[in-house]
Amino acid sequence: MRLNNKTVLITGSGSGIGRASALRCAEEGATVISTDVDGDAAAETAAEIREAGGSADHYEFDVTDADAFRAAVEDTAETYGLDVLVNNAGIGQPPSRIEDVDKSVLDYVIDVNLKGPWNGTHAALPIMREQGHGTIVNMSSLAGQLGFPYQSVYALTKAAVINFTRATAAEAGPDGVRANAICPGFIDTQLADAYFAGRSDPEAAREEMVQDYPLRRLGEAEEIADCVVFLASEESSFVTGHALTADGGYSIS
Ligand code: NAD
Repeated sequence: MRLNNKTVLITGSGSGIGRASALRCAEEGATVISTDVDGDAAAETAAEIREAGGSADHYEFDVTDADAFRAAVEDTAETYGLDVLVNNAGIGQPPSRIEDVDKSVLDYVIDVNLKGPWNGTHAALPIMREQGHGTIVNMSSLAGQLGFPYQSVYALTKAAVINFTRATAAEAGPDGVRANAICPGFIDTQLADAYFAGRSDPEAAREEMVQDYPLRRLGEAEEIADCVVFLASEESSFVTGHALTADGGYSIS
């Protein structure tokens, strides 16, 4: 198995991509630390892993709370070791013109999507440097690579995550730590549902979106989970500072 003897801490693993990633990492032999601001959801993912014969624990914390994030990371490292951090938790923004974005939305999306990965990396890096190995996977988005209208705040956070990933990779590489980002296109999760719900005709908006994809469908959370496993495992041992686009060909069409 590709993640035998590794401990993987995943944020936002109570739902969607994070949950699928937790389940896939466990299938590959990892001890999974499932974390979410929704503690029950994090616990459910961990329980599902254990019921399937895997190894998992869970923590409830908000990634914007730097102290709580650090406490969970340090406790995990002490109890299970820490090989991989997946900064997956993130939120969308209500579709809006730039001039109509409320400052509270600006601040909150930046806090979760940008400061979240910062807080996790800040807590995990000293541990990973000290042990001489570690891998960080940051969940960015195609919106961090392309300019989608009415998604300005989301886009600015996800673009920053890509460059933060590069900075992390450059800085921590000499200590044996890798960092990579994943840029998914539209993936069928509750985050995507919320995006379409904000459009005047959600079904038509979804169908229109699908036609923009060469594969003529949205992605599945499990397909991004496979990217997480690749970047978390030794199969990607010479890959660092990379932004892996998984978008069904959207960006080349
Ligand atoms: P989701 O809404 O299904 O899951 C997100 C999870 O994160 C939820 O369990 C939620 O409780 C948790 N969460 C939210 N805010 C949190 C916080 N402050 N602290 C801790 N946990 C928090 O969303 P998803 O589609 O699975 O998205 C996961 C990641 O993938 C996000 O970073 C998102 O931006 C990114 N992404 C999603 C898509 C997509 O189309 N779904 C596309 C590109 C990138």
